[in-house]
Amino acid sequence: MTTKNISRILNPPAPHMVGDGFRVHNFFPNGYQLDMSPFYMLDYNAKIEFSARNHPRGVGIHPHRGFETVTIAYHGAIAHHDSAGNSGIIYPGDVQWMTAASGILHKEYHEENFSKKGGLFQMVQLWVNLPAKDKMSRPKYQDVKQSEMAKFFLPNHTGTIEIIAGSFEGQKGSISTFTPIEMYNARLNKGSKVSLNFPKKFNTSLVVIDGNIQINDLDVATADQMVSFKNDGELISIEALTDAIVLILSGEPINEPIAAYGPFLMNNNEEIKQAIADYNEGRFGYLEE
Ligand code: MN
Repeated sequence: MTTKNISRILNPPAPHMVGDGFRVHNFFPNGYQLDMSPFYMLDYNAKIEFSARNHPRGVGIHPHRGFETVTIAYHGAIAHHDSAGNSGIIYPGDVQWMTAASGILHKEYHEENFSKKGGLFQMVQLWVNLPAKDKMSRPKYQDVKQSEMAKFFLPNHTGTIEIIAGSFEGQKGSISTFTPIEMYNARLNKGSKVSLNFPKKFNTSLVVIDGNIQINDLDVATADQMVSFKNDGELISIEALTDAIVLILSGEPINEPIAAYGPFLMNNNEEIKQAIADYNEGRFGYLEE
């Protein structure tokens, strides 16, 4: 096996607000033109202090079709409700994997108690594309609490690999995915080193959530940077230069045409028009304000 070399080390693009609750750096597809399929979008809310507020900040009811939203919390807490009747609170270390598929309405707000107290907030939202054959499947909701997450403990208490999806060293994440995806949170103590192994063709990247790391014994990446890899090998090594948290993403590309419009991610313009019509005619269900 050969090394998967770094393609680019990227600084977070200028942030923008999603609603009034999420101050995100869009690494792709807008910030940088990266083909990370099956990952279509990555919004990174770097650490920010929110002041206390009685009415929670967030983003109101909006639709999605054709893909999945994955929300990973690092600081703060996010409340979620959708038109399929699912709701939950995403606390630090938790992951919510919502399959919008044929269509869903949802709203995403700061959790009430967090909002009232205010404080540090940090999270990631990913959009994971679905293959054409699954775009119109039934919506689904997977919620993994930190305490239930599959974990691999590195030797001598040097860190933990939390397996969100896929598997690592025999530990299997509980999230089921439509296409092959590996997704981990690596929590590494200073000085620890971990080796990862993904198929050459998998599109692979990482986000440094906290700390500094050295990759492949070569380049250093620091908090809030994203690193994308070439499809030229299988092996990545990560060494923690400080205590570090790293979100690792790898997946088999979906080689299908993409038609993206706002909250819809389909294969062609006819399907986008249909999504807009279905939404306007109330076919995405109902959700209370
Ligand atoms: Mn949304």
